[in-house]
Amino acid sequence: MDRDPSDEDSVTDLSFEAESPLAPPAELLERLPSYDWLLQGDRRQIFFPSLEAPGRLQDQRCWSWFLEHRVPVVTEEVAREALLSFVNSKCCYGSTAAGDLVIRELKQQALCRYRLETFSESRISEWTFQPFTNHSVDGPQKGTSPRLWDIKVQVPPMFQEDTRKFQVPHSSLVKECHKCHGRGRYKCSGCHGAGTVRCPSCSGAKRKAKSARRCQMCSGSGRRRCSTCSGRGNKTCATCKGEKKLLHFIQLVIAWKNNLFEFVSEHQLDCPGELLAKARGETLFKDENAMVYPIVDFPLRDISLASQRGIAEHSAALASRARVLQQRQTIELVPLTEVHYWYQGKTYVYYVYGTDHRVHVVDYPERCCCGCTIL
Ligand SMILES: [Zn+2]
Ligand SMILES: [Zn+2]
Ligand SMILES: [Zn+2]
Repeated sequence: MDRDPSDEDSVTDLSFEAESPLAPPAELLERLPSYDWLLQGDRRQIFFPSLEAPGRLQDQRCWSWFLEHRVPVVTEEVAREALLSFVNSKCCYGSTAAGDLVIRELKQQALCRYRLETFSESRISEWTFQPFTNHSVDGPQKGTSPRLWDIKVQVPPMFQEDTRKFQVPHSSLVKECHKCHGRGRYKCSGCHGAGTVRCPSCSGAKRKAKSARRCQMCSGSGRRRCSTCSGRGNKTCATCKGEKKLLHFIQLVIAWKNNLFEFVSEHQLDCPGELLAKARGETLFKDENAMVYPIVDFPLRDISLASQRGIAEHSAALASRARVLQQRQTIELVPLTEVHYWYQGKTYVYYVYGTDHRVHVVDYPERCCCGCTIL
């Protein structure tokens, strides 16, 4: 994929926000034969190139180091510290229990989290217009417009989402503004061009009902200046901004998206999955390429299956809509500890999860109910 922005086919970045594009007069489309193929149907169409056939063989991976990998063990002291800093951050929790509790049991487990990110680019084209202000028109007489996927643009950094609009070269045409018919202004609808309206206070009677005094609001004239046009009787055309002409052109809209697939391995502990999905983990494996291949031989079979499922899902979802630019898959180890403790004759449970020792409390002896949300 060659995307040198200095290439002569590179396009102007449109920093302005165009008015939502209305369909231009039909004869406009007929005058652009080179884009006929692009504007069939509803005049918005997506084009994507065919994917290159994968030519890379599955890397031989060695997982033996995985089995040797050790997650730092959460000690009683670490577990208590984690709980203390948790209760101190919550107004509803008293810290006495956290200091006095007796830890009975620590159940440790290291979970595996698989993540697949697929960074893709999609392109659509649409007619749009802007007020015609400068006098150079890059129309079909200057050459044939490049096809949608042949237009070279600067790609943002990988995995950073963005949407940008570009003017397609040689697609411009200048037409009289269809809103004001080339006048640049139109008659004010508030006063029908008069510049004044009937006084709302006296309804044009010049004096208030049953009153001898003249109306103060209109000084007895019965009319007030039109507020819609400030008394001018006409308004500048908002479509052409008074320029009388519009530059119609085909706009290329490119969206870069990062699609995410996530899976956390099975575990016996009762900690909510959404916490584990966000928990900080330790990266065991990272694979980034224009296209990644499913992991087939990871010691945990559900991780291998997740990799296969994620890659299949992304390719099915994106194949007809976008071009894949980069993929990244990671396997992380997320430590999870279930802590059973004893306090004033009762037992309670909480969890310490992630490499940064976050806490999830199931029940806690000293808790009031002021309505703050517990995590
Ligand atoms: Zn009046
Ligand atoms: Zn008016
Ligand atoms: Zn106009």
